[in-house]
Amino acid sequence: MPPTATTITTATASLVDLEVETVRTDAIQSFLKQETIFVELGTADGLAGRGYSYTIGTGGRAVLSMLRETLLPAVIGLDSRAVERVWRAAFDSSRATTVGPITSLALAALDTALWDLRCLRDAQPLWLAAGGFRDTVPLYDTEGGWLHLGTDELVENALRAKAQGWSGVKLKVGRPSAREDAERVGAVRDAVGPGMAVMVDANQSLTLASARARTALLEPFDLTWYEEPMPAEDVTAHAELVRSTSVPIAVGESIYSVGQFKEYLQRGAAGIVQTDVARIGGITPWLKVAHLAEAYNVTVCPHFLMELHVSLTAAIPNGGFVEHIPQLGAITTSSLRIVDGHAVVPDEPGLGIAWDLDAIEDRRVA
Ligand SMILES: [Mg+2]
Repeated sequence: MPPTATTITTATASLVDLEVETVRTDAIQSFLKQETIFVELGTADGLAGRGYSYTIGTGGRAVLSMLRETLLPAVIGLDSRAVERVWRAAFDSSRATTVGPITSLALAALDTALWDLRCLRDAQPLWLAAGGFRDTVPLYDTEGGWLHLGTDELVENALRAKAQGWSGVKLKVGRPSAREDAERVGAVRDAVGPGMAVMVDANQSLTLASARARTALLEPFDLTWYEEPMPAEDVTAHAELVRSTSVPIAVGESIYSVGQFKEYLQRGAAGIVQTDVARIGGITPWLKVAHLAEAYNVTVCPHFLMELHVSLTAAIPNGGFVEHIPQLGAITTSSLRIVDGHAVVPDEPGLGIAWDLDAIEDRRVA
C-alpha cells in the first residue's frame, strides 16, 4: 500500500527507571524499581502516540532490545489505524520468542502507543474507544497490606482506607505459618467490619495441599478473592482448588497470552481474572481476554497499572475492582481523579495520562 497520512514513519523506544513510591514486599519478591519501557510512534501527518510497559526491576533492557531490534522495524510503513494488523505484524516478527513475558511486555509498549494514536486521531478518551460502559470504577487499596508490615500496621492502614471511602483492601499472605496469615486477616476483618471487601494475595507461593489448608482457614473472613495461590502455569491445580473452597480464586497477573486465559476459563479454574495490560501484550489482547471472560460470566479485576486499567475496566460490562498502586507520580503532571473511593475515567483524548517529558528524559537510562 502506498504511504498515507496515517502511515507509521517513526518508531522509537526508551527505558526509564522509577524508584518505588512505597516499599512493597510479598511472599516471593520485592518491587525493586519500575523499569518503564516507552514506545513513541509517529505518523506521516505528524501525529505522535506514546505507550508504555513495565517490569518490577529486571528484564527491562531485554524488552527494550526486543523492541528496537525486532518489533519496531516490523511496523514501519504500516497504517497506524489498522491496529490488529500492526499488532500481528509485530507478533509475527518475533515468532520464536512468543508467547513469553519479554515479547508480551514489548508488544504492550507498542500496542498502547497505537491506541494512544487511535484515540488522539479520533479525539476520544480510551474508556470510550475501548467500549465505553461506565465512567467510574471502584478502587481497592493494596499499599497498606504488604507482607513485611505488622498486624497493627495492617489494621491501622485498613481503617484509614475505610475512612477514606475505599471499597476494599488487599493483604499479602504467605507468612511461614498459616495460622499467622489467618490471624492477620482476621484482625483486619474484625477492624473494618462486614461491609468492606477484603482480598488476599499469596503471589504463587503455595502448593495445592497448602493452598487447600490455607483457604479453609480463611473461609470465615468473607474474602472477595484469594489471589495467585499457586504457580500460574499449573491450571490443573487451580481447577482442583476452585472445587475445594468457597473463596473465589483470582489469577491473571502472571499470564502472558489470551490462550492461557482461555484454558483457565474453559476449565473453571478462575473465579476472577486479573489481566495486566502490559503482561498480556497491550490493550488489543486485554480486550479479547475481557470479552472472553464476559462470555464465561467472569469478572475482570486487573493487576496494577491503574492509569490504564481504570479506563479499560470502565470500557467493559464485566469490569470489577481496580487496584490502587500509584507509581507514575514522578513522570506525570496528571493524577487519577478519585471520588468516594471510585476512580473517575480520564476524559481527555488519548490514554488519559499527562506525561512530564522533561522528568522522563531526566530518568532515562537507555
Ligand atoms: Mg498479585
